[in-house]
Amino acid sequence: MNIDGKTKLVGILGDPVSHSLSPRMQNAAFAAAGLNFCYVPLSVSHKELPAAIEGLRAMRFRGANVTIPHKVAAAKLLDCLDESAARTGAVNTIVSSGGGLTGHNTDGAGFISALTEATKLDFRRAPAVIFGAGGAARSVAVALAEKGVPRIAIINRTMEKASDLKALLMLEFPQVEAFAIGFKEDCADLIFSSKLLINATSLGMDGDLKRFPMAVDKLTEDHIVCDLVYRGAKETPLLAAAREKGATSMGGLAMLLHQGAASFKLWTGAEPPTEIMRSALESK
Ligand code: NAP
Repeated sequence: MNIDGKTKLVGILGDPVSHSLSPRMQNAAFAAAGLNFCYVPLSVSHKELPAAIEGLRAMRFRGANVTIPHKVAAAKLLDCLDESAARTGAVNTIVSSGGGLTGHNTDGAGFISALTEATKLDFRRAPAVIFGAGGAARSVAVALAEKGVPRIAIINRTMEKASDLKALLMLEFPQVEAFAIGFKEDCADLIFSSKLLINATSLGMDGDLKRFPMAVDKLTEDHIVCDLVYRGAKETPLLAAAREKGATSMGGLAMLLHQGAASFKLWTGAEPPTEIMRSALESK
């Protein structure tokens, strides 16, 4: 990497952010495409987010990714939102153009691409349970509703956020049956009668399944379990439990790849070198 006065900067705003594999994946992609870009991790607290976004402007960043816990807050701090960000109320990609910052959301499309690559799922016959109601959960819920899933149950620690997401689904997708459920409620029957189970909380990043509210014993080989959390080459505890029950599983790296490829295209206008990005992730 030859950084010089013409290098275009892209970063990832998050807290925590040190675990992120996006710098490794995006810098490999820029190098392979012969682009003078550099991608840096930027540790930004909730309080510092407005100043950090102003900083992207002041320092002429080409753009940024936004990760935990800032996706919803960032959507309120930008000059405009594209349709994917406006519809979900969450931003994972910022692009600077013409002096303004536009928010995009590639998480939903990235999740669907990863799932379609990994399974032959018929979405119209796949009731879903989503754990979490933050930025990633909002993107995944909207993407699944757009694909025609018949039912989405949102299970979250903070009930208010689950209810907000349920309200969004009811407004935009009245044909989808939507539920909001607290962590302490019994959700065993919903899990049993669902096809897709998605962890969109940050639980499991530390390798511990104990705090997870899901009745893992209800999993069967008919389930597809997706964990958005990734731990490098290590399996997350939820995916280990799914494997023991014979369920199909999909880890967070597949979605990371596809959402990142879409972000790359937004910043550079170039086709993403997807296989180079995949190798960068898999070699970690
Ligand atoms: P976020 O907006 O901050 O939402 C975090 C979610 O996790 C909320 O539902 C929150 O519940 C829940 N949560 C956090 N700590 C918890 C705890 N101790 N107990 C119970 N629930 C807890 O973050 P996000 O952007 O949606 O990201 C969520 C996860 O998905 C992160 O691990 C992120 O790395 C991962 N992700 C992965 C990809 C990928 O490409 N693989 C893409 C996007 C996100 P409350 O509402 O109660 O706070």
